Amino acid sequence: MTDTYLDMVNSGLGKQLASKLGLPRPVTLRRFKAGADFPDGSVLVLGKGRAGDAAAKDLLAWNLDVRRTAQDVDRVGAVVIDYTEAESPAQLGGPALELASALRKLRPGGRVITLSRPALGIGTGAASGAAGSEALSPAVSAARQGAVGILRSVAQEMRGGVTANGVLIADGVAVDAPSVTGAIRFFLSGRSAYVDGQFLTVGDDRGDAGLDWDHPVAGKVAVVTGAARGIGEQVTRTLAASGATVIPVDVPMAGDALTKLANELRVPALQLDVTDPQAGQKILDLVTARYGRLDLVVHNAGITRDKMLANMDQAKWDSVIAVNIESQLRINETLLASEDLGAAPRIVCLASTSGVAGNRGQTNYAASKAGVIGLVAATAPLIAAKGGTINAVAPGFIESDMTAKIPAARRQISRRLNSLQQGGLPVDVAQAITFLLSDAAGGINGQTLRVCGQSLVGA
Ligand code: NAD
Repeated sequence: MTDTYLDMVNSGLGKQLASKLGLPRPVTLRRFKAGADFPDGSVLVLGKGRAGDAAAKDLLAWNLDVRRTAQDVDRVGAVVIDYTEAESPAQLGGPALELASALRKLRPGGRVITLSRPALGIGTGAASGAAGSEALSPAVSAARQGAVGILRSVAQEMRGGVTANGVLIADGVAVDAPSVTGAIRFFLSGRSAYVDGQFLTVGDDRGDAGLDWDHPVAGKVAVVTGAARGIGEQVTRTLAASGATVIPVDVPMAGDALTKLANELRVPALQLDVTDPQAGQKILDLVTARYGRLDLVVHNAGITRDKMLANMDQAKWDSVIAVNIESQLRINETLLASEDLGAAPRIVCLASTSGVAGNRGQTNYAASKAGVIGLVAATAPLIAAKGGTINAVAPGFIESDMTAKIPAARRQISRRLNSLQQGGLPVDVAQAITFLLSDAAGGINGQTLRVCGQSLVGA
């Protein structure tokens, strides 16, 4: 499905017309390109804390032009702001106003990234067993949450495909922990093109930032469910392009498309309904017989059976719960009890912004997708004990067969109601999943990352 409005406003006449009429002007996003995956221009690191110093070191190691002041810089590709040592709201203004002076120099596809510590009780990464922040004073907690407010507002003000996202470094976690580096790299990269106004919490010092960034899952053995089309197909392709061996799984009815994809990737296809009570074991049997172990799993298979609650029936309710959440619970239970997982097993589950904010006509779907967020938080410590991680991604409006079913007028509105003024592509979800499955994200656990362009729905 294509967004013809986006094409129109990026043509000569359309651009002028949209500008004159004050219409939304979405731009084509800067997406991942192997070997050339940084914003165009210098990277400005603001704030005098140790996290800023550590980030500057990483950025220099990636051969970027790093500056510590906005003066004498013409083209800014990204701004990294260190708020990790902020102790009162009065300290927030300095770096924010320095950022203000750099914004006009920010190039299309640029990035704003904040580094900060989580406020009390908010995003402490507790699910990953991270050190808490019980002893915070109200002023420190206010400053920390204030930094979150700044980031979310900046994200809403940006245009030209610029995104703003934050790294929350849990108390007790080093400012140069591998996943702090990993999260900065992800947010700078085109892999995060449709992630906007969001935060990743680094909850522990695990992970590996020394990997091949173009092939972050090299050598891993992965399974993706619901892989025959849409987001699942893109996840399969992206993981394969990023170095993994990926076994696609889908229902027998989607067998032709599944076989075609598997043949292309030279892997076996697994025709399987994820609601099969033996699904977990069948996956393990196939993968271990062929490859000896299973490293990565993406629970992507999902369905919608939308009805207003007043018109909902038992079959519609039950099928959505069975596919979208019960299957994930059952398969995870089998996986976690197995001896056939690799040394750092990682799972990503597909949630949805409907599971974050609810959605009219989707009580069954929202129940299943909110359930995924709960599942992930509670499974995090269990998989951490095996050296692994589990996270969710919550896509917003993604151009796919699923959203093609939405009535036309509502689809147009849904597409524009986000800071990037456009729907995401399946590849945007796939790239975020690829990062979360990489060892660079080894210190990120139990979280739900929205891939929604900072959708106003449930903002
Ligand atoms: P899609 O309908 O295009 O594809 C879903 C795939 O899952 C299909 O190939 C289907 O055959 C497979 N599948 C369905 N039931 C299955 C079962 N029981 N066993 C095995 N495979 C099964 O959907 P999509 O848009 O690509 O969505 C993929 C995931 O992303 C879903 O979990 C969906 O809820 C979630 N999501 C999508 C959007 C969006 O905007 N498209 C937004 C939020 C979340």
